[in-house]
Amino acid sequence: MEHQIAFFDTKPYDKFWFERVEHQGIKFKYFENKLNQDTARLAKGCSGAVAFVNDNIDTATVDELSNQGVKVLAMRCAGYNNIDFKEAYNKEIAVLRVPSYSPNAVAEYAMALLLTINRKVHKAYNRTRDYNFTLSGLTGFDLKGKTVGVIGTGRIGREFIDICRGFKMNVIAYDVYPAKDSDINYVDLETLFKESHIISLHCPLTKETHHIINNDSIAKLRQGVVIINTSRGAIIESEALLRGLKEKKIGGAGLDVYEEESNLFFEDFSQEIINDDVLSLLVSMPNVVVTSHQAFLTNEALKNIADTTVENIRAFFSDGELDNEICYQCETGEIGTDCKKRKNGRCFSGK
Ligand code: NAD
Repeated sequence: MEHQIAFFDTKPYDKFWFERVEHQGIKFKYFENKLNQDTARLAKGCSGAVAFVNDNIDTATVDELSNQGVKVLAMRCAGYNNIDFKEAYNKEIAVLRVPSYSPNAVAEYAMALLLTINRKVHKAYNRTRDYNFTLSGLTGFDLKGKTVGVIGTGRIGREFIDICRGFKMNVIAYDVYPAKDSDINYVDLETLFKESHIISLHCPLTKETHHIINNDSIAKLRQGVVIINTSRGAIIESEALLRGLKEKKIGGAGLDVYEEESNLFFEDFSQEIINDDVLSLLVSMPNVVVTSHQAFLTNEALKNIADTTVENIRAFFSDGELDNEICYQCETGEIGTDCKKRKNGRCFSGK
């Protein structure tokens, strides 16, 4: 039996990798539209849907997917903060994800942002294209010996720590669940804020991490601190960041994610006026580099995403356990006696 799967927010690089793995009972219908409550009806006749980080999978979207007969929502990403997964659970739509596809891709990119901001490669590039070979204003600092504070020491945070150690930096870290048996030097958040020359964010976006970088925390930071965010935009309160940059408390920021990115990132607005003053100001600053959620974008990561997403969908339509399923009850700790994921390894039957 062939399963039709609606594939939302398709970009050419997605199609390139997914077309290589869609066989043996899975046929994708590619749509360029982002998934939201209006576009969900495109999934008519599909038993599954594939979505990405900036799709708006709220209650209404989940309901519409369910009306169209969708039984499985396969996220081609790790994060799932954009899904009402309680509603998905109520509608018996299994939510699957790709928990890890290339943590080093994101960690390497975080270092690329740090090196760019610190050594002003973005400015030098523009100058030499204009045959301006001067060096004034391009002075950086040695990373060796500087303290980097890593918030979140999961897969990506740990890769980033290893990279920083290669640069002979002093690494301190904060995590609500410190890694056991690791040689990571964990400190409390206050100490991390106070001591770090550089802060790199690698925790997920949750109620606890939302706006963890805000006016109060910025007041505690070292003068001239560089902030790198490759995690999720809303971990930083953008207006507070802007203020910290204007007041020169923050010496630079490398942002691969932005709080209000969902209607902008991944699209071309080069011929339009952007109606987001905070973003416009951030982009205009010489010590800020904003990129469009591209930290994951390597061939290896895209291949892993395609492979795992298809494996996830296949597993759903077979009887197997679903290792990559997000169970509403397990995730929230609201584990009822009826939690099938705990008992059977999956929330709902794929049949
Ligand atoms: P992970 O689950 O392996 O690690 C996350 C870590 O954060 C865990 O150790 C967890 O204990 C910790 N954490 C949770 N709540 C915390 C809190 N309140 N304070 C401090 N630490 C906390 O995840 P990962 O694979 O390392 O990915 C991290 C994040 O990177 C993802 O959640 C996602 O938002 C982001 N990401 C971005 C891109 C990109 O292209 N920019 C790509 C992949 C992932």
